[in-house]
Amino acid sequence: MSDKKKTRLHILGGGPAGLAVGYFAQRKKIDLEIYEASNKIGGNCKTIIHEEYRFDTGAHRFHDKHDEITLELKDLMGDELLKVSVPSKIFRAGNMINFPLNSLNLLKNLKFSTLLNVIYENILNSCRSFESPNNFKDLAQIRYGRTLSNLFLMNYTKKLWGKDPTKLETSISGDRLKNLDLVSFLKETIFKTSLNKHLDGSFYYPRYGFGTIFENIEEYIGSEKIKMQTPVKMLNHDGSKIKEIINGEEKVLDVDTVINSLPLNILINILNPAPPRKIIEAIDSLNYRNLRLCILFLDMPYFSENASIYFPEKKFPFTRIYEPKNRSKIMAPLDKTCIVIEIPYSNDDEIHLISEIKLFNEISSMLIDSRLLKNNNIIGHTFFNIDYAYPVMEVGTKNKLIPVFNYLNKFKNLYNIGRGAEFKYIHTHDIFKKASLIIDEIS
Ligand SMILES: Cc1cc2nc3c(=O)[nH]c(=O)nc-3n(C[C@H](O)[C@H](O)[C@H](O)COP(=O)(O)OP(=O)(O)OC[C@H]3O[C@@H](n4cnc5c(N)ncnc54)[C@H](O)[C@@H]3O)c2cc1C
Repeated sequence: MSDKKKTRLHILGGGPAGLAVGYFAQRKKIDLEIYEASNKIGGNCKTIIHEEYRFDTGAHRFHDKHDEITLELKDLMGDELLKVSVPSKIFRAGNMINFPLNSLNLLKNLKFSTLLNVIYENILNSCRSFESPNNFKDLAQIRYGRTLSNLFLMNYTKKLWGKDPTKLETSISGDRLKNLDLVSFLKETIFKTSLNKHLDGSFYYPRYGFGTIFENIEEYIGSEKIKMQTPVKMLNHDGSKIKEIINGEEKVLDVDTVINSLPLNILINILNPAPPRKIIEAIDSLNYRNLRLCILFLDMPYFSENASIYFPEKKFPFTRIYEPKNRSKIMAPLDKTCIVIEIPYSNDDEIHLISEIKLFNEISSMLIDSRLLKNNNIIGHTFFNIDYAYPVMEVGTKNKLIPVFNYLNKFKNLYNIGRGAEFKYIHTHDIFKKASLIIDEIS
């Protein structure tokens, strides 16, 4: 990795990872320049303004996982940062089921015999010892038993990641699959009182949308340090150091420390000379999952009371609906709202090719047929595309990545950070944490 006391950072990409590094560098007065291919910062975490509505490019919220990072965020956002507590739900078989699952609510929505199966399987699981699971399906069944996994997790996972859950690494759970709390579950079922005080929907959220975190960082760093519409096209190197950066029409010769936040496949493809064949083959075998977002503008004050609603059933092409107004009221006018519908796809999926109008018609009919909307509620729609939304962590991916990162580690002045760059299912708080560690190491 890089020598100490670097004086200048060249940051590739102006998404959350590039900007997080820029933020901590600016805090320490380290000279920096960010190169961003598009005409807007924020990468996959933007807030879009559409007429009188604001919505994020996906259901983003800030998880309070690292105290020092949450403090930085509070400092950056001031009184724009809200602490939000709203529930989330799973929509299945026409019912809204509490998420996280609790037994009282399941009792209402599942057959009693199904609930007995759930309890039986989880008692059995708690008496058994398991080897550590090597795929997502095994992990889910150990944590929740077969019945709950099949009802709520398997189809959802397949839709989101585009692969059978037996083919996916356990890390796609994002550490969110805790064991079912059997004691609470039984007490709730027997005494019919809800002990589950945990609200999945308790998180930080900026008043004007998640993307404003990155807009505030842009302002803090100074927009003159961010070169927009400047795609990085080539990194010339000598095998141990990046020597030149070719971006847009410019060649940067005096290269000091390079921070890469571009997806791994882009990085590998712009290295010159090209990496060894086995590295290119490893990268070519990786897949990223994209999202189509369908945004519906609705003539009603609220669509639901929820932060997010999850759709595990196969018949729905979408996985989740989120309502910006339930995170911050100013995201829509008083008497109207909008919902953002997430449809995951890979480039060879049919959904990728369906026209916007056809997809809009399909989705709105499904919501109307499911009695979640009425035809006259919808007063407009738009679409938004997110590439590189999820790095598909298949069983075996970790091993494929070992030689790739061994190769990249040979470059003494190159750091790699971000969801696509590290090929890891990480979130904004993880990215901020890593950015602060990189800057500590450099300064
Ligand atoms: C639907 C969804 C919901 C999410 N929800 C949450 C959440 O609730 N909480 C949370 O913490 N995280 C959430 N995340 C994760 C978070 O959005 C990502 O971790 C984050 O966007 C990753 O940032 P990044 O900078 O690594 O990559 P990106 O956001 O992909 O940014 C990469 C940037 O590099 C630029 N770029 C690409 N190629 C070039 C080039 N050749 N030259 C220059 N620039 C280039 C791109 O234009 C982009 O701006 C969610 C993600 C998705 C998709």
